[in-house]
Amino acid sequence: MELSRRDFLRYAAGAGAGTALGGLAGLGLALAPARAAAQALRIKESRAVPSICPFCAVGCATLIHVKNGEIINIEGDPRSPHNEGTLCPKGAAILQLHKNPNRPTKVLHRKPGAADWDVVSMEWALGRVAELVATTRDETFVERMPNGKLVNMTPAIFHLGGATLDSEFNHIAQKFCRGIGMVAIENQARI
Ligand code: SF4
Repeated sequence: MELSRRDFLRYAAGAGAGTALGGLAGLGLALAPARAAAQALRIKESRAVPSICPFCAVGCATLIHVKNGEIINIEGDPRSPHNEGTLCPKGAAILQLHKNPNRPTKVLHRKPGAADWDVVSMEWALGRVAELVATTRDETFVERMPNGKLVNMTPAIFHLGGATLDSEFNHIAQKFCRGIGMVAIENQARI
């Protein structure tokens, strides 16, 4: 392939500004085989465990590659009839549920007005949350509307479920929330 000086500078800039592979692709080189080889090398001698993305109700199928008892890669399962090996950006980051140095691993609490966070035990945190929920509910409980209609609810607490919660957990959470009189209950999928 003949390259003019102008072409060389343009492709080199593309590689520098974007990715090296992008620059090589710009030269007209077929990179699919190289990509496939690199991926095969990465998951070589690993065990592929079928699973499902936990983030939303689409339920895309995944393959979890495990080597020496450690998860080394998670990708879409090409055998799946609905995601056909693809994952959205959120699903493509599932590995970070397992490996993410930025993820807090301790329970943190910041006192009112404080600037810093304290490490607390899970038992203390659960007790504190329960205490605040019970107090808020009791202080704001509405038994009847002004027209006399029985409602037995609190408008003061909002529940937002996370996308990694599964259907069974959400079923229980809904029952609990409604049981104590909450009416503002939501579960997000792709935030
Ligand atoms: S979050 Fe994305 S990858 Fe996961 S199930 Fe939903 S659409 Fe699929």
